[in-house]
Amino acid sequence: MNRRNALKGLGMGAFGALGFNASAPDACADQVQNASKGLEPLKITKVRAITTSPMSARLVIIKVETSEPGLYGLGCGTYNQRPLTVVTAVNEYLDEFARGRDVDDIEDMWQNAYTSSYWRNGPVLNNALSGLDMALWDIKGKRANMPVYQLLGGRSRFAVDCYSHASGRDFKELEDSVKSKIEEGYRHVRIQLGGYGSTHLSTEPHYKKGGFGLDSDGHMDSLPYLRATPKMFEHIRSTCGEAIELLHDVHERIEPIEAIGLLKELEQFRPFFIEDPLAPEQNGYFKNLRAQTSVPIAMGELFNNPHEWVDLITDRLIDFIRVHITQVGGFTPARKLATLGEWFGVRTAWHGPGDLSPVGHAANAHLDMNIHNFGIQESVHFNEAMREVFPGAPNMKNGYMHVNDAPGFGIDINEKAAAKYPYPDHPGYWTPVRRRDGTAVRP
Ligand code: MG
Repeated sequence: MNRRNALKGLGMGAFGALGFNASAPDACADQVQNASKGLEPLKITKVRAITTSPMSARLVIIKVETSEPGLYGLGCGTYNQRPLTVVTAVNEYLDEFARGRDVDDIEDMWQNAYTSSYWRNGPVLNNALSGLDMALWDIKGKRANMPVYQLLGGRSRFAVDCYSHASGRDFKELEDSVKSKIEEGYRHVRIQLGGYGSTHLSTEPHYKKGGFGLDSDGHMDSLPYLRATPKMFEHIRSTCGEAIELLHDVHERIEPIEAIGLLKELEQFRPFFIEDPLAPEQNGYFKNLRAQTSVPIAMGELFNNPHEWVDLITDRLIDFIRVHITQVGGFTPARKLATLGEWFGVRTAWHGPGDLSPVGHAANAHLDMNIHNFGIQESVHFNEAMREVFPGAPNMKNGYMHVNDAPGFGIDINEKAAAKYPYPDHPGYWTPVRRRDGTAVRP
């Protein structure tokens, strides 16, 4: 029986177990000094990245091993478009930096690992840091014999309400997709006419005839998308009813002034939120957008740097912060970001796509369970291969995500199974999208 189980079995905290006696000052000082340590100190012995691809995305899992045999933690550092750069950052740099340090001092570790590269806040290093940070929270939960959400203060809700994604190349196909999501139990559905920006509606890629770009590059002009999107909302509202909450992702593919016009037009359909209406480079436009429409705004999928979100929150220019928590440096900064949002009426909608590992989804869900200002969670369905590699992954039921109550994030990795799913051959970078004349569309 190890120490924490022994204490638990005795029903005693550390003071009780040590026979705390207030009448003996010298002994008391020693005991307080010892008791303040709580559990026995543990050191980090190794930090390493594991790569796997059970469901198309190139996942990067960071495993932190400790000086207690068999005790380890898992974190997510998945950066689908540049995964091997994260692997290098972890295996070649963070491992050596973290070895020998105390597993319990998560805040100290985060602060020092963050500045250990001197330059910081980029996606590669943030993902590596996220993997280390989440793994330390996982270890702390295991040491405390509690799920991580209990370490934060316990539950604010029984499960995590999620939205699902529906798309179709025409209104009827989309309508059928939305109805199937409602059948599954979802109360919130994100609707997209075709791919992001309804790219299939743009039909004259003049740049290709002009010998510009590659044949594989995508094409999107603003006008077909801007005309079709309000009609899409009108169709889904009229065929799927008022009870369903509708979301939509602009994916920053139009000009700021076009986004303002679109959101004003969509206001009549009462969207739950409109996502990423502007590129992160256009944060300065949110004041103009906010002044002209009451459509709820979700922003931040591409954010990496606190300077991108602090003013948007404190100036109350957005309604939902939806960062990808591995991209902002992990669980520790995401928890602080959520707390900042609480005081300014900004709710969370953490990015939760297929290119986040189940470990990352579990981390999202543990935060969602605890924070008061939870808004909504993006969700995916894991295939059988994903569940084989990640025992304990969160489950979806009736549109709610459920985490299990095992200690830590409640999720493990089967490394033998993970090795069966190597990365696909194609590099996975974001395909260029162009306007009719070849101008690059962001993103
Ligand atoms: Mg998005």
